[in-house]
Amino acid sequence: MEDTTTTTDPVRRWVGDREFRMLIGGELVAASGGGTSTTIDPNTGAELTEVPEADPADMARAVDAALEAQGAWEDLGLKGRTRCFEELAALVREHRDELAMLDAIDCGNPVARMRFDVDLAVEYIEGWPGLAAGINGQVFPASPGNLHYTASRPYGVVGRITAFNHPAMFAITRPLPSLITGNTVVMKPAPQTPLSALRLAELFGQAFPPGVMNVVTGGAAVGDALVTDPRVKRLAFTGSVGTGLTIQRRAAESGVVKNVTLELGGKNAMVVMPDADIDAAVEGAIFGMNFTVCQGQSCGSNSRLLVHRDVAEEFTALLVSRLERFRVGSAYDESVDMGPLVSAAHHERVTRLVESGVSEGAALLTGGERPADVPAGGYYLSPTVFGDVRPEMTIAKEEIFGPVISVMAFDGFDEMVRLANDVEYGLTASVWTRDLDVAHRAAHLLDAGYVWINDSSRHYFGTPFGGTKNSGIGREESADELLTYLESKVVHTRLGDANAAFERLARSRA
Ligand code: NAD
Repeated sequence: MEDTTTTTDPVRRWVGDREFRMLIGGELVAASGGGTSTTIDPNTGAELTEVPEADPADMARAVDAALEAQGAWEDLGLKGRTRCFEELAALVREHRDELAMLDAIDCGNPVARMRFDVDLAVEYIEGWPGLAAGINGQVFPASPGNLHYTASRPYGVVGRITAFNHPAMFAITRPLPSLITGNTVVMKPAPQTPLSALRLAELFGQAFPPGVMNVVTGGAAVGDALVTDPRVKRLAFTGSVGTGLTIQRRAAESGVVKNVTLELGGKNAMVVMPDADIDAAVEGAIFGMNFTVCQGQSCGSNSRLLVHRDVAEEFTALLVSRLERFRVGSAYDESVDMGPLVSAAHHERVTRLVESGVSEGAALLTGGERPADVPAGGYYLSPTVFGDVRPEMTIAKEEIFGPVISVMAFDGFDEMVRLANDVEYGLTASVWTRDLDVAHRAAHLLDAGYVWINDSSRHYFGTPFGGTKNSGIGREESADELLTYLESKVVHTRLGDANAAFERLARSRA
């Protein structure tokens, strides 16, 4: 292998002629059928390298390995599993720059922000053992002379399928609650962005016993093999509504009842009341849209801005002028605000939705085109703001999953609530006002799993994250999530007569 440690070209340095392998049963392996797929650099459109495209047989082998490893992993206990988590945290910290750069190269998210993702992931690795230590059971005073208590056991093998937008962070953090509760995991990362997950497969292989964590790469067919494997009774999915529905159906068609949790899309409303701090709200809108993290490709992004008519003009003008100063460019560049979209296909889809906004009569206030001075061949789109958006327009209803924001003006409180809730999604919402009554009344009425008041986007480990309506089922990143990887049982003990028992014991000893 070429020595690339001194080159300043990140692709040569971190991808070069390195081999990216899956992790199955503790071994780093190619696909058994020899299948590969080419991963593309969205910054330039250039081919990066080949990665394994697994066969369904590889998925079956990964489930075999996970099943075999599960008993010993559970028996290791929380303390033993915590030691493996500590080892993983140290390895991830050591490889921080590499993992962040792989995401910049493979996904197009700015490298500086991806370092933040890796740091956050380390916090999660360190956080889960503490939450797991708080798991306890219950004792029920159901009837005298009986002892009823609950105990819980892991499901066994958990199938984890993830989306493309935070590749390293998802590959690190999404399996953790399954693992800390004594399950073993088979993970399938997104096919657009496999590199950091495959590099992490090596680190997982160093930190955990063989078979505890398995990483298998490929597209929908490989994911389907995991979903329909009757031995995998617990599935957790992060991705789009369409795929989530398919997974629920295919899980049922496996003939086995499965516990499926889904973290899906969003079309999230941020509400700006006339008394809001407008400067802070504009910054909140930009931060909450995740422009600078992943080009708006985030489930939680506030892609619909509902602004009171009295302040709509001032708010929109400030928003547009802030976004027009953004630097869009290669995600390897430390100083860019935004990189490219993840793929040519996704760029085409987002562009089509922008065109639908124009053709359906919204006012394109800024963006919607390829910025000047970006690297040739990359999938760039400038930050885009639409005004005069009406609720029936496609851009007001569909999740765009790109750097496109729609501003809608409202007059009354009830009208605002109706507009905010008039979508199939219910992931997040955000309300900006100085009035406590308005804030909490809105928080109560907005149909979303996570509501911010005078803030956006920030969520902290331990607070349950997840959506209502078609945004999903289940809550993650919290004690609530841990319990979903455990099946509880009640143990009912009939207590006999203690005096008679004691006498029996005394007689037997005499
Ligand atoms: P996607 O649904 O296209 O793919 C997600 C994953 O599912 C990928 O790994 C893909 O290969 C796999 N997959 C596709 N078809 C499958 C099938 N039939 N069986 C099994 N697996 C299959 O989503 P995406 O484009 O990668 O990600 C974008 C979507 O993810 C957006 O809708 C976004 O809102 C959502 N998302 C949600 C959250 C959340 O926490 N709620 C977080 C990130 C992304």
